[in-house]
Amino acid sequence: MINPGSEVILSVEDLRAEVDGIEILKGINLEVKAGEIHAIMGLNGSGKSTLSKVLAGHPDYTVTGGKAVFKGQDLLALEPHERATAGVFLAFQYPLEIPGVSNRDFLRVAYNAQRKAKGEDEIDVFDFDDLLEERLDVVKMDFSFLDRSVNEGFSGGEKKRNEILQMALLKPGLAILDETDSGLDIDALKTVAAGVNQLASPDNCMVLITHYQRLLGYIVPDFVHVMADGRIIRTGQKELAEQLEAKGYDWVLAEAAEVSA
Ligand code: ADP
Ligand code: MG
Repeated sequence: MINPGSEVILSVEDLRAEVDGIEILKGINLEVKAGEIHAIMGLNGSGKSTLSKVLAGHPDYTVTGGKAVFKGQDLLALEPHERATAGVFLAFQYPLEIPGVSNRDFLRVAYNAQRKAKGEDEIDVFDFDDLLEERLDVVKMDFSFLDRSVNEGFSGGEKKRNEILQMALLKPGLAILDETDSGLDIDALKTVAAGVNQLASPDNCMVLITHYQRLLGYIVPDFVHVMADGRIIRTGQKELAEQLEAKGYDWVLAEAAEVSA
């Protein structure tokens, strides 16, 4: 879906961040345009989740340098909830459980917060249920999940579907999915991929963080980036993911080390 000349939605320049005084992100550069799907791959510990959390505004991480601009706004100057209402969505690698809050209420509050930020009226409960019914279909989830506490007692796959349901409802301008494919059986993987493909449009963009190529068999990325030690060390297209699947990461790491030596 490469769309030359289309609007830049996310622009990250030399982004650096630390946690507890340890630098994790060591200068990330990334530009994502409308209509594009980017995959970020890399071994465990390379900083992928840190990048997603820094973009979402997680309070544990301190940005020490660089820029992140979302639709022309300085993302780093916004509070996490402001980033969310501006249209930045993060599906967590480990979705949180929120006992005592029903999934339906949680979704309605999130949806209405977004409407309020746009100066629109809150949606009424019945209209919201109709909307939810339609979006539940995207992730093939049963209505009964709405009356349960958010993610409480959900299986790994159900939690991941629930993240996609949130995305289907909020229709973010930028969706970052952190290992949404991990722990899914093949049917759930296909459902999640179908949901993502259905939601991808020329007006939004997606960043898929994934360890494995298998998700990319169902969602074709425009660009594939490899992260290592807090940097993007290589960018290619879908063939790069296939090479990583076939040959592992060692060769990319070795080539990057040669270039920087
Ligand atoms: P990935 O998602 O690529 O597996 P992470 O971003 O989770 O990588 O982690 C990158 C590095 O940062 C790891 O060495 C990890 O231990 C460290 N790290 C991330 N978050 C924290 C945290 N909250 N406290 C301490 N170390 C952290
Ligand atoms: Mg991670």
